[in-house]
Amino acid sequence: MNSLWEKFLENGRVKECPVYDMHAHMGSFNRIYLPFGDFNPEITKSRLERAGIKMLIFCSHWTLFSPDIGNRANIEVVRQLPDKLRAYCGLNPNYPEIIEKDVEDFEKYRDVFVGFKLLSDYHQKPVSHENYSPAWKYADKKGLIVLLHTWGGSQFDGPEQVRIVAEKYPGAKILMGHSCHGAWDETIQLMKDFPNVYAELCAVVDDRGGLEQIMDACGSKQIVFGTDWPWFNHHYYIGAVIDSGISDQDAHNIFHRNAEKLLEGLI
Ligand SMILES: [Zn+2]
Repeated sequence: MNSLWEKFLENGRVKECPVYDMHAHMGSFNRIYLPFGDFNPEITKSRLERAGIKMLIFCSHWTLFSPDIGNRANIEVVRQLPDKLRAYCGLNPNYPEIIEKDVEDFEKYRDVFVGFKLLSDYHQKPVSHENYSPAWKYADKKGLIVLLHTWGGSQFDGPEQVRIVAEKYPGAKILMGHSCHGAWDETIQLMKDFPNVYAELCAVVDDRGGLEQIMDACGSKQIVFGTDWPWFNHHYYIGAVIDSGISDQDAHNIFHRNAEKLLEGLI
């Protein structure tokens, strides 16, 4: 029997190991050309199938950076490709009135959203800021997924900030996007202290040893896969994870089993 590594290498995708990309985006972005940024139902679908991506969970750049467009950009896209896509309801803490409205309307879009996305380093307000609190309370109550952008050393979404919200909202499933990049010891401590806190691998594998360190300390059950697609190619990230020398069982956990559990009841 060939290993998963060999099967991915041979076919570019593996039927019995579907991949959930838990951290993605959609739409064009200023000052850079992203070849697959613009949504097109056929092209997007074929790009995902090419790498065996069973489901991609994203938050549109337009939502995150254009409050006048807001979550409309997510809703319209998911509804055109519902068997492959779900979205995070994007929150910008500089527009608290929009957050309140989005939380109020959340139930209307349960076919679209699995939770919330915070991009605090860019919006320059800490993840524990009161402007986010309607969404945090709602996620806590409903068991929603909250994807945070996190980075080691950040005053907005570094490990100290993650600790505050993890303690306060134990019902929310918190994904540390980029796993507090570089602050691996603190990432590990957060995963040990809080069963509802997960490491997400986007950008982690650009630093040799980070994934291995997290795996050695915590195993693979609190790790999910993500890529920041369309910024990065799925095969690049799948290859980096699987080539780190992890077992097939750990790869199954990271690529799909953990995500399937997190998404239970939400999709
Ligand atoms: Zn991202």
